[in-house]
Amino acid sequence: MRVGSGPGLGWPEESEAADGQGAAEEPAGPPIGALDGLGWPEAAGSGSDGPGGSEDTLRRTERPESWAEYVARPAGREAGTTGSTESDPAGEPPVGRGGPGAAGGPGSAAPERVRQALAGVSRETGPGGVVQAGDRGVNAPSPPAAEDGRPATGGGAPNGVGGVRTAASPDSVGGAENPSAGESEVQVAIPAGPNAVADTPIARAAQAAVVARAGGAPWPRPSLCRIITIANQKGGVGKTTTAVNMAASLAMHGARVLVVDLDPQGNASTALDVDHHSGIASVYNVLVDGQPLGSVVKQVTGFAHLYCAPAAIDLAGAEIELVPLVARESRLARALSAYDASNLDYIFIDCPPSLGLLTVNALVAAPEVLIPIQCEYYALEGLEQLLRTVELVRSHLNPDLSVTTILLTMYDGRTRLASQVADEVREHFGAVVLASVIPRSVRVSEAPSYGQSVMTYDPGSTGALAYLEAARELAQRNAAPAAS
Ligand code: ADP
Ligand code: MG
Repeated sequence: MRVGSGPGLGWPEESEAADGQGAAEEPAGPPIGALDGLGWPEAAGSGSDGPGGSEDTLRRTERPESWAEYVARPAGREAGTTGSTESDPAGEPPVGRGGPGAAGGPGSAAPERVRQALAGVSRETGPGGVVQAGDRGVNAPSPPAAEDGRPATGGGAPNGVGGVRTAASPDSVGGAENPSAGESEVQVAIPAGPNAVADTPIARAAQAAVVARAGGAPWPRPSLCRIITIANQKGGVGKTTTAVNMAASLAMHGARVLVVDLDPQGNASTALDVDHHSGIASVYNVLVDGQPLGSVVKQVTGFAHLYCAPAAIDLAGAEIELVPLVARESRLARALSAYDASNLDYIFIDCPPSLGLLTVNALVAAPEVLIPIQCEYYALEGLEQLLRTVELVRSHLNPDLSVTTILLTMYDGRTRLASQVADEVREHFGAVVLASVIPRSVRVSEAPSYGQSVMTYDPGSTGALAYLEAARELAQRNAAPAAS
């Protein structure tokens, strides 16, 4: 099958680039705009970057507190903070999830707007609608790869998400309902794990911190390598942070994980402290020169089984250089199928903040999409376009593609809007949304400046614990079919 021959994947740059180069290896695709509604945004777009689109100013602070200090700290209080963060509106009382305070007052228009923002967004996140956890087998690169002989696991078990709590769960946003939570600036979702004996938020946090520091017991590993693309065309929503910390959490619990950095900014490579200066072999060489993926993969220092395929700045040129190449949308898929992933459990692909060719390559290469959604109003804008792109790639290039996971990030428990956005997203997308919510955490933003994930930089911090729980959920969802 000639990949890209389907209607509508006519890249805006296509005719121009093909004209200019004359030597396209295959005929140009359909005319630009041949598919209604595709409307590829400019690749360099990131015009939608939020305020956090670039790395925060690096704050080299003192090293994290000791374990004893952590335990002594009041619940929910982030080390190194004074009780206020940049987004703390002066005098605004902390409000729990959709509590009485959420209605009325200056913020009362927000829920309606949030609802409206989601009104036009499809609830369908995959071929069968919301993908039940455990439905996925994995490693089914497009086109439908029955011939690779790797059967999909699971069979749409209706209870695949067993144990994952939904929005209705009273403690899915942690201490929000706790009367004492009024003093804490960050409320963390730390859902009770299956073996949790603690029954208070601080006890759960302490227990989780012990596990985080010790590495903990191995989590269930998938029978086949899961390839998960982390995508959202908005910048600064936590794609890279999620890729790095989910990968590190899983690797700390016995999984073998590869992070493919597909963002020319190379933030994931930086966070994992993998050399990615211009000139070194990187994902660029894999996509454009057809170099084997294995030749650019590096082991991440400090982890037995965490690897990274780094991105250098030259990857920015790949958006253009890929245009005239054969099967330009499936270069990464081909590289991954040629790569021996039999020793891996997870491959995370960290996308750039655009819906250009790099992101499409990532969507073609993976059966699973994880969308991080920042708990802010603007985060909902653009979601429809992202889901439409996923749907287009699914219908033309990768029939196995679906959104399997949504992760709420940068949750600020002091703002009404954060809880309203979280509630609405849960109501809209249901079980696909992880119960764990990632709070805003100073430690999370500091970690990259030390070339570390927050999982190693400060494993007892609220951000690390939240990512640990999110990764555990991801691992357990996949484990459902194997257990049955
Ligand atoms: P993206 O990859 O979507 O552009 P990043 O993961 O790079 O987003 O995050 C953008 C910025 O926000 C980075 O500086 C990162 O350190 C910071 N950040 C991400 N998640 C959090 C969080 N939970 N709390 C605080 N800062 C965060
Ligand atoms: Mg990024």
